[in-house]
Amino acid sequence: MGEKGDPIVKAITLGVALTFFAHVAFAQESATEAPVTPDDRLNAVLWQLTSAEYEGATRTAFAMARVALDKALKDKKHTAAIEQTGKFAKLPPAIIFDIDETVLDNGPNQVRMMLDTKTRPAELMARWHERGVAKPVPGAVEFIEYAQSKGVTLFFITNRNAEKEDGTRKNLEAIGVKLPATVDTVMMEHEKPEWKFDKGLRRATVAKDYRVVLVVGDDYGDFTSVWNKPTDERRKDAETEAARWGRDWILIPNPIYGSWENAAIKFNFRAPPDERRKIKHDTLKAFDAAE
Ligand SMILES: [Mg+2]
Repeated sequence: MGEKGDPIVKAITLGVALTFFAHVAFAQESATEAPVTPDDRLNAVLWQLTSAEYEGATRTAFAMARVALDKALKDKKHTAAIEQTGKFAKLPPAIIFDIDETVLDNGPNQVRMMLDTKTRPAELMARWHERGVAKPVPGAVEFIEYAQSKGVTLFFITNRNAEKEDGTRKNLEAIGVKLPATVDTVMMEHEKPEWKFDKGLRRATVAKDYRVVLVVGDDYGDFTSVWNKPTDERRKDAETEAARWGRDWILIPNPIYGSWENAAIKFNFRAPPDERRKIKHDTLKAFDAAE
């Protein structure tokens, strides 16, 4: 190697120094010149992507699902679906899952949507769904493997659009879901003309041929058609259904988005972020400090 005064050593030293200062300058530039756009999802996305608490919450839910499944498999008179009617005791067992934020974690795409405010959210969502690379929600894979080992048919009722079925199937198979060749178990929105945003008809379709032993989702609409009511009615309804939680219905936490937020903004989807924030604030009531 050359001596300290060697021109080559000097050149390398200078190069290293310049690279270092360039990095410092760039870091300062990105900190000062690219301010973070305020986004109401920040804490929720942070919780889902980084917290031990999210890992614990979803694993708790799937552990409870396993216990509930064992019980439901033994009790042939049991159904977890509101839509299930008639004689179902001799039908083969099935679980109905939602997909997004239930078995697949879309946190990384939520980050992208927060950072890239120029591209339409629907476009970013479509690209993400087509890639089919979402990681599983913690605990989902273990529960899916367990349910499959028990011979339960797994149905996935999702409001991803029908054209996203290929990427969706690819993603589910990548996390260990065994999709049967003879029956379409991935039921997309608009895959059939009558399959609308509300999932009730698709649940009823599954319930014609299977005994629904469990429903797993992150949104109230994954369980019932009462999702599109005002917040107080939704909350009251969920209380009325108290016996089902943890027995028929397993809820995976999703603090980022959902029909809970849509109800909170009174389904006013045209409202810009500031107006939405105002509606949300007006919905909340503090205790009266004067009392
Ligand atoms: Mg979902």
